[in-house]
Amino acid sequence: MTDTDPHCQIDLHCHSTASDGTLTPADLVRAGAAAGLAVMAITDHDTTGGWAEAEAARPEGLGLVRGAELSCRWHGVEPGIPLHLLAYLFDPAEPVLAGELLRLRLDREQRGERIVELLRADGVPITWDEVRGYAAGGSVGRPHIAQALIRAGLVGSTTEAFASAWLGARYSVPKSDLDVFDALRAVRAAGGVAVFAHPRATKRGRVVPDELIAELADAGLFGLEADHEDHSPAERAQIRALAERLGLVVTGSSDFHGTHKTVRLGAFTTGPAAYEKIASVATGVPVLG
Ligand code: AMP
Ligand code: FE
Ligand code: FE
Ligand code: ZN
Repeated sequence: MTDTDPHCQIDLHCHSTASDGTLTPADLVRAGAAAGLAVMAITDHDTTGGWAEAEAARPEGLGLVRGAELSCRWHGVEPGIPLHLLAYLFDPAEPVLAGELLRLRLDREQRGERIVELLRADGVPITWDEVRGYAAGGSVGRPHIAQALIRAGLVGSTTEAFASAWLGARYSVPKSDLDVFDALRAVRAAGGVAVFAHPRATKRGRVVPDELIAELADAGLFGLEADHEDHSPAERAQIRALAERLGLVVTGSSDFHGTHKTVRLGAFTTGPAAYEKIASVATGVPVLG
């Protein structure tokens, strides 16, 4: 494999109905194979709940990296800045990390319910039961509330639901995320590898300074996701340069969410060299296939 081999498409950030994606884990892996991916990762928000179904449905020839996207926060400024770590190939039974994932999912439920209460107080005709129904037992996220707002005819799309008049600011409640340094320790203790997801995605809110990324590198961060639809070409180049300076691997991925977003599987990909480093360093669970 070479970094330019078009037959080796590696997409290391994809969501299923175990969180806020719209394809079931089984349909997600089938869609990955159909899209021509050689390797894909299932990285639902704060859960490994989709792993078993994805494993069982994995098409022959598709490499499956099992992971999760952890809701983290950096407390170096006030108020703290939320950020996402992609955790790959960790042991899902390791109790500290499993306990944190459970806590994060419970917090998502409380926060989702509070957002629905704020909306209902202003007369918006949606219910927590409806939103919880859209999440169908998976990690609840704002896209599920967006779905209810679309159903109620108040917005036309998920993107519109994230405008400041809705979930973006007016009806926003913070999650009580995992401290990013604690998250790194927990992922590594579970044999996993951590990559900072979309570190310059300013459209989602404030982003962290390069100095913090350097501290995270010292604390065991393994890579930076550079190629992502939320980054401009200039931002992608800056992240590559920073990764090189800090000795981190660079990844690229679609952050596929099914119909909750427009991006397609394999729209951004990771080079084989970076992927092989991730796969060889992790000790929690193996890549399947
Ligand atoms: P939550 O995890 O509940 O805070 O919701 C964040 C999720 O909403 C992200 O993982 C994306 O799937 C989605 N999201 C965030 N910002 C936007 C946006 N501006 N437009 C559409 N979806 C978004
Ligand atoms: Fe998401
Ligand atoms: Fe993310
Ligand atoms: Zn994601």
